[in-house]
Amino acid sequence: SAEPRVVLSARGLKRDFGGFIAVNNVDLDVHHGRIQALIGPNGAGKTTVFNLLTKFLQPSSGRIELLGRDITRSPPAKVARMGLVRSFQISAVFPHLSVLDNVRVALQRPSGLGVQFWRSLSALDRLTPRAEELLRSVGLDDARNRSAGDLSYGRKRVLEIATTLALDPKVLLLDEPMAGMGHEDVGMVSDLIRSVARDRAVLMVEHNLTVVADLCDWITVLQRGEILAAGDYQTVSSDERVKVAYMGT
Ligand code: ADP
Repeated sequence: SAEPRVVLSARGLKRDFGGFIAVNNVDLDVHHGRIQALIGPNGAGKTTVFNLLTKFLQPSSGRIELLGRDITRSPPAKVARMGLVRSFQISAVFPHLSVLDNVRVALQRPSGLGVQFWRSLSALDRLTPRAEELLRSVGLDDARNRSAGDLSYGRKRVLEIATTLALDPKVLLLDEPMAGMGHEDVGMVSDLIRSVARDRAVLMVEHNLTVVADLCDWITVLQRGEILAAGDYQTVSSDERVKVAYMGT
């Protein structure tokens, strides 16, 4: 089959903070239909790379393309509307709203960023069929009328991912989607990410290397802001420099 299509790419990405270089010379290609991971020890620059890709931070130098268009100087809301959507480590669901309303509110937001502008109730009503379809696709339809705050930890994360899917992302960035989860929840969220990645690109920061080995097609290892290694799990995990980095030497 043909090479997977690159939907997001960075070349020579660099960011310094008053002389301290947090990210240096990073090249990254994110592919449609793949699950990719960004890993590395604390302080390696993973969050900064996410902030640069989503344009929350301006790069000091380098270039970023999304779906073939230069977004190096684009504002975050524009990048989100173009299809690059990020889900945060801290849960972003509204606990007192029902599961269905969480998705309906997400569906009426143009970019997933900024202030919530509530539309009329009838406008929200028109979103119900799409919201229900989305809940079915992530396996939350049985919980539609429950308060989001009453969901289990794992199902809250599923709902949170569903609210990002409401924005119809082409590229989904996930910040530690399995953080704090037990084995069963990890399985549930892994299944969801696999299904999400069938017609999208997924790039995730993940500390759990068992999850990365199980789920990710391509892994980029950062250390002190630079790419240390990249490849499939087998390649990356047998790299001597990666072993040393993870032993904290
Ligand atoms: P990771 O997500 O891999 O743990 P970060 O991207 O958060 O790493 O941080 C990379 C490095 O950049 C760290 O040394 C951090 O202290 C530094 N850094 C991140 N953001 C800032 C900032 N706004 N000002 C100064 N230093 C920063």
